[in-house]
Amino acid sequence: MGPRRCSTLLVLGCALLIIVQLLPIKPAIAGSIVGNDFATIERLLSVKQYADADSKALLLVEQAYQQNHVPADEFLSLGRVFQSASRFETSKVIFSAALERYTTEGELGNMAEALLHLASSERHLSNYTTALTYVHRAMSIAQIERNELLKAKLNLELGTIKQQQGEIEIALEPLKQALDFFRENNMPSEMSLSLLHIGDLYSLLNQTSLAHTYYRDALESVEASNDGRLLGIIKTRLGALLLKTSTPTQAINSIESGLKHLETTKDVGAIAEAKMLLGRAFVEDGDTKNGRELLQEAMAFAQSTGQLKLMQDGRLALARAYMKEQSFELALSEARAGTIEARKNRDLRGQISFLSIQLNAFVSLGEFKKALDIQSVIQQLREVLLDSENKSAIEGLQAEIEVIRQSHTLEKLEESKQLALAQAEQEKLQTTLVWSISLAVLLFTFLIWSRYKQRQQTIILRREVRQQTLTLQEKNEELRTAYKTLEEVSLRDPLTGLYNRHYLESQLPGEIRRSQFSANQSTDPANTKQDLLCLLIDIDHFKRINDDYGHIAGDKVLSSFAQVLKHVFRLTDLIIRWGGEEFLVVCRQSNREELPELAERCREMVASTPFDIGTDSPINITCSIGFSLLPPDRKDNFELAWERTFAVIDYALYATKLSGRNGWVGVVETLDTKTHSQTPIDKKFNFAGSRIATSFNNVASIRWPDTLDHKQ
Ligand code: GH3
Ligand code: MG
Ligand code: MG
Repeated sequence: MGPRRCSTLLVLGCALLIIVQLLPIKPAIAGSIVGNDFATIERLLSVKQYADADSKALLLVEQAYQQNHVPADEFLSLGRVFQSASRFETSKVIFSAALERYTTEGELGNMAEALLHLASSERHLSNYTTALTYVHRAMSIAQIERNELLKAKLNLELGTIKQQQGEIEIALEPLKQALDFFRENNMPSEMSLSLLHIGDLYSLLNQTSLAHTYYRDALESVEASNDGRLLGIIKTRLGALLLKTSTPTQAINSIESGLKHLETTKDVGAIAEAKMLLGRAFVEDGDTKNGRELLQEAMAFAQSTGQLKLMQDGRLALARAYMKEQSFELALSEARAGTIEARKNRDLRGQISFLSIQLNAFVSLGEFKKALDIQSVIQQLREVLLDSENKSAIEGLQAEIEVIRQSHTLEKLEESKQLALAQAEQEKLQTTLVWSISLAVLLFTFLIWSRYKQRQQTIILRREVRQQTLTLQEKNEELRTAYKTLEEVSLRDPLTGLYNRHYLESQLPGEIRRSQFSANQSTDPANTKQDLLCLLIDIDHFKRINDDYGHIAGDKVLSSFAQVLKHVFRLTDLIIRWGGEEFLVVCRQSNREELPELAERCREMVASTPFDIGTDSPINITCSIGFSLLPPDRKDNFELAWERTFAVIDYALYATKLSGRNGWVGVVETLDTKTHSQTPIDKKFNFAGSRIATSFNNVASIRWPDTLDHKQ
């Protein structure tokens, strides 16, 4: 090999190395986590092994957190797969992980996408208030980004939520806006979906001929597209309408035709809804036995996926079926269960429907006294319903006003950015003009030099464009930071700079899930740090400080107190200003045995710190603490965990106050077996027994709030 060939090879080798270096390197983990497991999860879902699919997905999320790499885009699609299998709880966890990632990266558009999916999952689970919060947050982003398509999708979701909440008049406006957009932009599927929901509204208002027109339009708009799912849903809804206006046979035909379409899709939720409708139609048609079977099948599905509304619709139809069969006792028992469920869900309309069935059943059984009692309850509920409808309309308005207010602030930022851009544009235009004229002169006089000059100018222009692009990127960055600050500010308490309870509300579900998950995963419960600990801390006799030295001094003490807490607790612990002079701390990845030590460290540090109040001599203060493991009882389910923990620490704090202040009382652990010496706290919270810790002499010397009540 000659030296020339050798050096050519060397150059080629170097070039290859450089190219390899320049190729974008994707973290291997994204492919490895999602690629393999995605297919497994889809397979599990398709063979209906839902529990396995859930735990596999949750494990995936946990791994992603631990390796600090959440493949958000993949998670978004994974969440949707769970959504279409009606596994809404799991889809929520996956979407939240994606949202967290997008939020850290500041990817507004994707954040909005994740928020929209979260809203839809919460709606299916009948958590309408949470769903609305997500929609409003996404709407703020749509305003900043001026993303009309996103706005239309959000309007569609908003209308659907309002419809399910029974706020029909309010639902109509966003749905019509969405429809307008989709129609103008020629998007048949989305248009059809909007038409379908408007049809639903008119059907609820019993304007059946209008509802019919909208359903027909929805069908026409989607017929060409071959979208089996949508075709199926529209036909079943048409069936539901026919059930009101025409013979049951016609309704059955339409629903069965819809069901055929749906069975070609994987949308188990829509299939269950169609079966529920078919069940109702059978009952109307007199075939109550088949009807009841279908209803029970759909109810079992609704129960397993946590869809309260579907469950309630089913129970109502079932109770009516029993009435039709004159099985009044069975009808009564369904209606009673339904009334209780509806009361739990705070659904007044539902309660009234179930109570009306109870009323009819009692009348048919000849129990007129009971019927009369029920009648008066119905009357009272009707009055409350009227009141609460006014109230929720006002709450809806307030939320909307809040979005408009936020978007105004952001629009102002946007305007200043646009102004700067317009000025830059004008300057650029002037420069270009000057350049063009000089170029023309140069062309005219120095024909030979023109090419050279032109090339020079191109280089300068290119640099300028690069500069402009950089400025634009900077402005975009500023806007993003401004938006983040806006979110941040609403989560912090201005006096102490600590987070407030809104922040805690947004973090808690994730924390509790994570802690429960790692507790379930762990094989050795003894030596791991997987507990969540919770402490409620209240300054003693704080009112006296305000009274003796004034409010400003009081405020100073509160800010210094926050600093002391930051000293006592770790950076990773959540320190929240709970209100007034009360503070709440959640310690993550800790061990329950650390609780007494932590409380004592906090008490001691507060008592020994001099607090400056702007006068010559600083003052001394003390604090009282109530604490507990979160949740206090391992058996508490996720929904109860926070509610119970707060009740326990509040009670323990009260006991500390009664026992003399400057101390602590709390629950380190609850026991599975009943102990002989049950304390008032065990009785109050129904614990078999518990391990209590206190800074006072011993557990017997604690003065409990309840015992005080008895004595009084
Ligand atoms: P206890 O030992 O029983 O807790 O007595 P306390 O005086 O600390 O409790 P109380 O609840 O009677 O009074 C709390 C006071 O805290 C009343 C309220 O005026 C004051 N406060 C609440 N928030 C603030 C604040 O932001 N700044 C100031 N300066 N005072 C506040
Ligand atoms: Mg106090
Ligand atoms: Mg207080």
